Amino acid sequence: MQYPIVEIFHSVQGEGYHSGVSSIFVRFGRCNLKCSWCDAEFEEYENKDLIDIVREIEKFNCKNIIFTGGEPALQDLEPIIKELRPKGYKFSIETNGTIELQKGLLDWICVSPKDQIYPGVSIKQRYGDELKCVYVGQDLSIYDELKDGFENLYLQPCYDELKDVALNGILFKQTVEVVKDNPEWKLSLQTHKWMGVD
Ligand code: SF4
Repeated sequence: MQYPIVEIFHSVQGEGYHSGVSSIFVRFGRCNLKCSWCDAEFEEYENKDLIDIVREIEKFNCKNIIFTGGEPALQDLEPIIKELRPKGYKFSIETNGTIELQKGLLDWICVSPKDQIYPGVSIKQRYGDELKCVYVGQDLSIYDELKDGFENLYLQPCYDELKDVALNGILFKQTVEVVKDNPEWKLSLQTHKWMGVD
């Protein structure tokens, strides 16, 4: 079994509910969307065997795995999980939600929908642990139905590396105001970008 792998690395989760938690990131190649702000490099990857992926993961002193991408739900994750779960690993996914996930397979589901820029995109994964929405000024009522399926709601200001600090700051401040007016949502910041780490 082979998977398109961009990179496998050990770092600290920089955003959302598990901010600050030591994690192994498995970044898969390919995505079914093309978001204008996307900062993930997923078009250059290497096809790797399951056994080699497992070996790479086991090199790190960490048992938390985050499947990311690209779009990790395009992959059959079960063989990787079956191999590593008996060794004590836990599995999270960060997905755009356009593909329904197998029930009970993952320990933590974070859906980050892109429907504010793709009005026609339908979200198939309608429940999970974390709903993390990139904020670009959209009306939060677009999440009225979807949010009921999630335990934790996050708004994350879109961080554009091509813009200077002041311009990004305007959107950060707007996001803070929206969170103050809508307290069921929490603020998520991409702290790893500020720290200059992966
Ligand atoms: S869904 Fe995620 S990985 Fe895919 S293009 Fe959009 S931001 Fe990038």
